[in-house]
Amino acid sequence: MFYTNTKSPEETARIGMMLGSFLTAGDIVCLQGELGAGKTCFAQGVARGMGIEDPVTSPTFNLVNEYHGKLTLYHLDVYRLNGPGDLDDLGYEDIFYGDGVTLIEWAERVREALPAERLEILINRGTQDEFREIRMLPRGDRYRLVVEGLMSVVCSGS
Ligand code: ADP
Ligand code: MG
Repeated sequence: MFYTNTKSPEETARIGMMLGSFLTAGDIVCLQGELGAGKTCFAQGVARGMGIEDPVTSPTFNLVNEYHGKLTLYHLDVYRLNGPGDLDDLGYEDIFYGDGVTLIEWAERVREALPAERLEILINRGTQDEFREIRMLPRGDRYRLVVEGLMSVVCSGS
């Protein structure tokens, strides 16, 4: 488990952006944290780091938004899913096992459907308004390398 923390939405997006620059085709990133934790803020940074210039908005109502840069980004928010049937309707297997990058907000709600190898990011609020603790849990060697690379740039402050 790797930890970092941020003191503003910009800082959270910046960490997302650094992560985005490490991601490649087929990667799965799961975002967990309560409403308002900063999952979408983090996702906006990831998109920027992937070279996506379109504005990234929350997929709360449409469940999945698709963006095209050098790679495709599928940004899901599964908070409103009513069950596994809804996930099937989204064509989730084509998304998870396709060659885009997948970001899933509220991923814990569809845990059974997630690939075993994935990067889990947990965002928690602290006691101060804009403080967030960000924990990263890589599942699988590929994601461990990604997180190690990310933490080295986060810590060097570059
Ligand atoms: P979620 O997608 O988890 O529901 P959002 O990213 O939509 O959350 O919203 C996060 C809210 O918290 C935004 O209003 C943002 O400005 C605010 N915020 C305050 N501090 C931070 C921080 N350090 N990181 C991320 N968001 C923050
Ligand atoms: Mg959100």
